[in-house]
Amino acid sequence: MVITMHKDATAEQIRAVADRVRQLGYAPHEMPGAQRTAICVTGNKGPLDPSLFTRFEGVADAVPISQPYKLVSRELKPEATVVEVRGVKIGGGSFCVMAGPCSVESREQLMATAEHVRKHGAHMLRGGAFKPRTSPYDFQGLKEEGLKLLAEARDATQMPVITEVKDAETLPLVAEYADVLQIGARNMQNFSLLERVGELGKPVMLKRGLSSTVKEWLMAAEYIVSRGNRNVILCERGIRTFETMTRNTLDLGVLPILQSITHLPIIVDPSHGTGVAKAVIPLARAAVATGVDGIMVEVHPDPATALSDGPQALTFPMFEEMMRDVRRIAEVMGQTIAAF
Ligand code: PEP
Ligand code: MN
Repeated sequence: MVITMHKDATAEQIRAVADRVRQLGYAPHEMPGAQRTAICVTGNKGPLDPSLFTRFEGVADAVPISQPYKLVSRELKPEATVVEVRGVKIGGGSFCVMAGPCSVESREQLMATAEHVRKHGAHMLRGGAFKPRTSPYDFQGLKEEGLKLLAEARDATQMPVITEVKDAETLPLVAEYADVLQIGARNMQNFSLLERVGELGKPVMLKRGLSSTVKEWLMAAEYIVSRGNRNVILCERGIRTFETMTRNTLDLGVLPILQSITHLPIIVDPSHGTGVAKAVIPLARAAVATGVDGIMVEVHPDPATALSDGPQALTFPMFEEMMRDVRRIAEVMGQTIAAF
């Protein structure tokens, strides 16, 4: 249920409603909006009767939320959420480009890539240090050394860094270095990890699970937000279908629907979404044209020697070419694409 307060409701009136919610055994989540404060009520004790609250002073309205996802829904919060990371804005009309290698492999590889993508307009540096690999015999990442290199690249380029956190054990370490914690597709429903990053409060980018529906994805985001962390970004990275020509099927069709039901910023990853370098630029263009809030792409100085995801990595010239198109399309879509 969402309780909407009057424009001029006092802090005391808001507190009285929140106290009553707690007394009834539910959790109140205050959502200050541009016009008025809303209080979202969550809990597992069954539906609440809105009339319990309509007589409280300062209350304008109380209505049930029809969907199982509440805190992430536009029903509760119609305005877009803007996540801000070291001055970089994601959402609400600010377009964000995240770029970098799949894995951090060496200082030379990371620095060269970071410098290049920054020069051509990236806002955030990506790079995996703890890699979730399908095969235990594949490169598993440089781990803490990789995190240190990311911090070094951040210092050199002033770009915030996003890197994957694979499990709760390594979360404190990864959180020491990362500006945005990436939850990978394989971990989308690792509920204890979602709860932990929810408690931590650091911005999180939640990738869509390989075989997850939008509803399951939004419920996973709800886990994070319900623990108090509102800085959540969603990332569409393709889903598994019967098609084998591409690594995954990038689900662009669902994006307009997703945008209408959630206020969270949405990023599209055409690299994992296709798995094929030559398909990345066209799909990046298409993603920008859907009006999403940003893209994430993998870039490598020499894809032929990449230790992970070489087939989908953009070369430096390809990244430049992509950025030229992305800038033009983002502008048509009314997005602001910040320049460094
Ligand atoms: C990645 O970003 O390198 C990655 C492993 O992504 P995903 O979780 O989408 O497979
Ligand atoms: Mn990858």
